[in-house]
Amino acid sequence: MDKYNFFLNPYIDASFTKCPKCEGKTKVKKLPLTIIMDKHKRILNLNKTCKYCHYCNLLIADKDEVELFIKQFLGVNAITEKEYFIAGTLDRKVYRKMAKEGGLSEGPLHGASFFKNVWEFTMQPSGWHPR
Ligand SMILES: [Zn+2]
Repeated sequence: MDKYNFFLNPYIDASFTKCPKCEGKTKVKKLPLTIIMDKHKRILNLNKTCKYCHYCNLLIADKDEVELFIKQFLGVNAITEKEYFIAGTLDRKVYRKMAKEGGLSEGPLHGASFFKNVWEFTMQPSGWHPR
């Protein structure tokens, strides 16, 4: 099971068709993200279309899309960054089983792989820089 590096993209107008680290072309990859919400005592798995750089093993998800899903799930109008934490990805087979059976008998984090690193990037005049 792959362990990815992860970047939660807060820039609505940046789609990252190029990797912010190596500037290589990214691909589109759909996979389940494991979202831990301590305050709400919930763990969500969201099958999400992400951008992916094979070279950096970097997965990029749009923050506004993830937050929209969480808000819809909780039935609230707003959430803060402190309320959730995207911990890793879930094995696709486990995700399908969970979706079919409505839960996991093995426990909520069964099949989850935590991210290797979480990266942040900021826009500088010369391009994207790690923060
Ligand atoms: Zn890259």
